[in-house]
Amino acid sequence: MIYQLGNLARMLRVQWQPASDLRELQNRKLRSLIHHAYRQVPFYRRLFDSRGLKPEDIRRVGDLSRLPTISKEQIQAAPAEEVMAFGLDRSKCVEVRTSGSTGLPLTLRYRREDDSRLNVSWLRPLFAHGVRPWYRKLEISGPHNLPSGKKWYQHLGIWRREGISIFSSPGEWVKAWRRYRPEILYGYSGSLKLLARHVLDAGLDDIRPRFVFGVSDLADEECRELIQSAFSRTIIDLYGAAEAGCIAWECPRCQGYHINADTVIVEFLRDGRPVPPGSPGRVVVTNLHSYAMPIIRYELGDIGIPGGEKRSCGWGLPLMKVIEGRGDAFIVLPSGRLLSPMFFFGTMKKIKGINQWKVFQSEVDCLKILIVPAKNFSSETIDHLRKRVEENSGEKMGIEVELVENIPGDSSGKVRAVVSQLESPF
Ligand SMILES: [Zn+2]
Repeated sequence: MIYQLGNLARMLRVQWQPASDLRELQNRKLRSLIHHAYRQVPFYRRLFDSRGLKPEDIRRVGDLSRLPTISKEQIQAAPAEEVMAFGLDRSKCVEVRTSGSTGLPLTLRYRREDDSRLNVSWLRPLFAHGVRPWYRKLEISGPHNLPSGKKWYQHLGIWRREGISIFSSPGEWVKAWRRYRPEILYGYSGSLKLLARHVLDAGLDDIRPRFVFGVSDLADEECRELIQSAFSRTIIDLYGAAEAGCIAWECPRCQGYHINADTVIVEFLRDGRPVPPGSPGRVVVTNLHSYAMPIIRYELGDIGIPGGEKRSCGWGLPLMKVIEGRGDAFIVLPSGRLLSPMFFFGTMKKIKGINQWKVFQSEVDCLKILIVPAKNFSSETIDHLRKRVEENSGEKMGIEVELVENIPGDSSGKVRAVVSQLESPF
């Protein structure tokens, strides 16, 4: 706990440093991680050797582009002793699993001090928005993330939390809320959206969190509006991954997400090169606290936009704009133009008669759209939908509509509204 308090104090101090100091801190941490990975981890030693590189060649963030990016599949395919540091006592490592929303889950291992540092990275956005340590939190989360047992400080009333699975029903989430009456509602954005819809449909007026934090799924426009109507609160979106802790979070004062630059380096790439501010690129991360199993230039599979509009928060942490979804959530139009998943969130909410929806693309000129009809659904809904998609995208496409009773999440419980099976354009 004392160690964690030290981390917390350091983290809260660092965010006030000027951007140039933060960049220097990143470079220093990067050099240390690169030296360690080269000396202690065969997987990275081979990667360096294949490019004729020595650790001295990677001195600052800009030098990272000399190394190739790596994928989850590459780490999964390598034997554990190849991707882990020599001489590490595995029984002393903390194991963290990815959610498995894109293929098989990956088990990551962290030294206790690194795990503690990454846990603290999730607290920064909470403090930034005014959360106090004695507020209680209800988490609607994947079963592998649910809290088990109480830490000693939770017996003293600090960072108390209870959890309920995303696979439970909205009715059960409401019961859990009423039992616990927390100040903070925290969970997968897709589940919070379902809960908000349930609260509005059932006319419940006693679910009144002080804060709503969304993680994991895309906090789309519809999700934001539903949560605002149901709870009279703005959802605060947090972006993170088991591979890198909390990566970025919505600032209460800036237009954008602050990147936790003291724990993670984020690159935005297209065709292997950094994209300019304002353009979408593949999110590639280097976890600066991953000494047991280094994560260097790791492809997360998400598409994000660097940049943002600085207001008056005074923090030196760099900004990024929204995460637009995963690479395979972009629709490729017949002309080769890309359609962001955000396009559908904007378009669908303007069409009456649709409760839930999901878009699939398996061919370049055809979309399949699943629809859960709302009470005011009629044959006009489908005509309207075809017209809107065609008009707003500016291109002719075949649109196949199928009416369904519900749209299940994937095996990890995440809800992905747009999925393309074509080769990723990024
Ligand atoms: Zn800010």
